[in-house]
Amino acid sequence: MSEEARAREDICKIAKSMFDRGLTCGASGNISVRLSDGSFLVTPTGSSMGFLDPARISHMDAKMRHLGGDKPTKEIPLHAAFYDTRAETGAVVHLHSTHSVALSMLPETDPDNVLPPLTPYGIMRLGKVKLLPFFLPGDAGMGEAVRGLAGRRSAVLLANHGPVVAGKDLWAAAYATEELEETAKLSLLTRGLSPKMLSDAEVEAVVTKFEVDW
Ligand SMILES: [Zn+2]
Repeated sequence: MSEEARAREDICKIAKSMFDRGLTCGASGNISVRLSDGSFLVTPTGSSMGFLDPARISHMDAKMRHLGGDKPTKEIPLHAAFYDTRAETGAVVHLHSTHSVALSMLPETDPDNVLPPLTPYGIMRLGKVKLLPFFLPGDAGMGEAVRGLAGRRSAVLLANHGPVVAGKDLWAAAYATEELEETAKLSLLTRGLSPKMLSDAEVEAVVTKFEVDW
């Protein structure tokens, strides 16, 4: 199977798995993958992640111009901003996942580091996740806000909207996005219960051992 055919299959498989587990609903969420020739595969606009057809995934050239397949998601500027500012990016995943969106709205959420240190895995897979302000859907300002981070963050949380996560490949981006949602869920489950979080020293040990950008 060619690299492109494999990537088309993987996008559909991962998207369906996320949809089936309620990680994004209706026609929300989108995924992109960079192929080794520099072109991109992107999930189509208005499509549901639960019902994607590998043959209809949008194919874009290296400048994100449409080459084939259905029209791409309107959130292309958001994806392009990660590829342009983080050279190591091989895939970007964006969801409207419930607990992450809820966390984005709470007044005690730290906008520079939205996930509390509840488990080592959120830290290992995501580093510090930045909260970005609310933008109207499709607003190119979202992409500009990601560019403003100059590649320093692999994951952002759009206020009242959802997470956007870049990874070295599709599996890494997908697993990191799931970790973000799980940590957000734990944070909400333990809210008001005085959970024992990782100490500053424990966070530091995780960051050092797993060479996290922090
Ligand atoms: Zn969205």
